[in-house]
Amino acid sequence: MNKTKLFSYVRFSSGKQSDGQSVERQTATANRIANQYGLELDTLSFRDLGVSAFKGKNAAQGNLREFINQIGKRVPVGSWLVVENLDRLSREESLSALDILKEILRKGITVVTGMDSKVYTYESLSSSTMDLVMSVLLFSRAHEESVTKKNRVESQARSLIQKNLNRESGTPAFVIESIGQNVWWSAQDNGKVIKHPEYFSVAQKIISMKWDGCSPGEIQRYLNENHQPPTKDKRGNADIWGMNLIRGFLNPTVHGRKEFVLDKRDLNGALVRKRHIDESGDEYWITEKETFVIEDYYPALMIETDYLTLASMDKARSATRNSVNGNELREIGLLSGIGVLRCGKCGLPMTKNSAAKSRFRYVCTSKNTTGKSCGNAGFTGQPLEHVILQLIADHVWNNNQEDRTEWFNHEIDKLDRQIKKLVRLATLTEDSGIDELATEINSYKKQKRELEFKFSEYKLEKSAQISTGWDEFRKFDTEDVTNPDRKRIRLKIKQAIRSIDCTTFNNRYGLFMVKYMDNSEQRIVLKYNRRSSPGEAFVDIHTVNDRVLVELAGITLHTHIEKLIDPVAYEATQQAWIKANQQHVDGVPITIIDELTQ
Ligand SMILES: [Zn+2]
Repeated sequence: MNKTKLFSYVRFSSGKQSDGQSVERQTATANRIANQYGLELDTLSFRDLGVSAFKGKNAAQGNLREFINQIGKRVPVGSWLVVENLDRLSREESLSALDILKEILRKGITVVTGMDSKVYTYESLSSSTMDLVMSVLLFSRAHEESVTKKNRVESQARSLIQKNLNRESGTPAFVIESIGQNVWWSAQDNGKVIKHPEYFSVAQKIISMKWDGCSPGEIQRYLNENHQPPTKDKRGNADIWGMNLIRGFLNPTVHGRKEFVLDKRDLNGALVRKRHIDESGDEYWITEKETFVIEDYYPALMIETDYLTLASMDKARSATRNSVNGNELREIGLLSGIGVLRCGKCGLPMTKNSAAKSRFRYVCTSKNTTGKSCGNAGFTGQPLEHVILQLIADHVWNNNQEDRTEWFNHEIDKLDRQIKKLVRLATLTEDSGIDELATEINSYKKQKRELEFKFSEYKLEKSAQISTGWDEFRKFDTEDVTNPDRKRIRLKIKQAIRSIDCTTFNNRYGLFMVKYMDNSEQRIVLKYNRRSSPGEAFVDIHTVNDRVLVELAGITLHTHIEKLIDPVAYEATQQAWIKANQQHVDGVPITIIDELTQ
């Protein structure tokens, strides 16, 4: 006759406990129990290493769940399960923990604890009050220990967060390890967060590759060839850099930010709970969470505005990325790959034409994205780049805007509260009203996202205003299309300009509507000449600060640029103006001065 099987379940909440000694001890216990009760120890053992039973993770999705699922299959009904102690099964509050024990017992399994050789069956639990009370007591104690531990960890974290927020700015942060892991390019020294001696420079290299427009695949190749990865990937492979690490690299930690999510507490330190209603209409309470942000926790790899710029460039690029040729000296478009240049005809992004070399063109992406060209023929890059640099150096956009940071925070907060209110309402609403509420919640969420996006743009704009050094762009030679400085300049352009809409008219003219970060606009007209003779550039004279310097750069300032753009419409407006003003001047027609100031 076959002996009854004994299975073992082992759980450690942290990796540190799982050293050989503990495992050995547990195996010895299982052997002892098998001998004591005449059982056959099955080779199949169930382990949850590094899994906490505090939130019931092991019973919901871990190997304990796998054991329960295997009852009646790989695990015969009637088998025994050995655990070191009941608290290995669960450290949830005692009633939930009891449910898990009951579930295992009800399926015909006998549970034995290694510590005291106490045997639990469904019958013993149902009939012996002592067994029931003992198990509830053990579970309660385990749960309380866990809660105490969690409270201690969180209160330590809380005071460390305050200590960090109050520390002198510019000094390294105090390490907080208990809540969330620290990034791989940081390290610690005497309780302070410092640059990782090896990986900080690797992280910097990733950023510079991103500025250069390298794809995640290219970055991965570089890293694999030059550096040992800092962590194992999902399959436990320690030899290659995981794609997730590279794709997820660009996030607010790069400018130093770390967020901590803790249980919310009121002024007396008591947990703040919120009422919920489950499907059957019963209420239950969930502890609310609170997020703390330390903006300067990690040593920064870059400043926040550069991060926002790079992140939006990265997004624009992944949409328009084309195959990269292997040439060492590549021409770099000052206006492409930063999500600024738009086709005025179809609205799609415009990009540098990779085919042409020294005199490259900017072309509409309609052919590539929709398969059909919108008809915008594009234009040679250099003349527009030259004018844009001169105008940025002229710094026409507004320097003295009021600070709207408070306003943004306030508005976002208001929307956030509205969303929370509606979500709360949704939990109390009958089925029929839910759809409507969901639509409303989504619309508020959309508004909030849009406002948050505008806020990040606003921050960009502000940094552009306070930055100095715009003057130097006057001197840059735009004919030098492979100059590596172009990457840095391109970033500054992105910080100053929101969009440039590009159209062509009368075959030989380009019209460019430039929208700056403060939403002010400026029009540029380029007249293209045949062959090598240089064309001509016109800018609205009213929109320029330093007329002399702009004219010195070879740009013609025009008093009535409309006349160039649409002579017919211009004439009509002029006639209408004369007509409207005629009665005031006793029949003498007035002409508007419409000369070119050459
Ligand atoms: Zn187009």
